Amino acid sequence: MPKDFKIYYCEKITDEISEHVENVLRDLFGLQFRSVGVHIPRVNAWDDHSNAYDARNLLEQMVAERLSFFLWLITVPISLDQKSIFGYAEPLKGTIVSTSKMATRTLVAKEAAYFVGIVLGLSSCRNECLMQSAENFEVLINKPSTLCSTCNAKYNRLKLRYM
Ligand SMILES: [Zn+2]
Repeated sequence: MPKDFKIYYCEKITDEISEHVENVLRDLFGLQFRSVGVHIPRVNAWDDHSNAYDARNLLEQMVAERLSFFLWLITVPISLDQKSIFGYAEPLKGTIVSTSKMATRTLVAKEAAYFVGIVLGLSSCRNECLMQSAENFEVLINKPSTLCSTCNAKYNRLKLRYM
């Protein structure tokens, strides 16, 4: 588990969104979340077929710059295997979340927290839980903003092991 978790934005993310996301993440995970600055998606990660940036490609570019434990919040659409997605994460590496299909800061924070959870070692969960995988918009809207007792216990064990 890292001492702090870095947050990057694209230039169109508003302060209102970024501050809300940071507060939600801090309360939920009890870690230091540090806003690092603006990072612009590279044009060569654009995928013409899905009309979106390829999320895996964007993440690989960040990892190639030796970045780890980061959230990159962007406004442009992203896709994985040419399917439109809310976000993408790789455990112990980082995550990219797109606000393009999310109308409120509550939804953005919820989905950012889900993917940060994946980076920190949690996995998808079938309980009434933030860690429910949002396969569609309805799940995203209806799932809670908090961890279930199972995920919470798991997260506390992860924290003990690494900190
Ligand atoms: Zn859970």
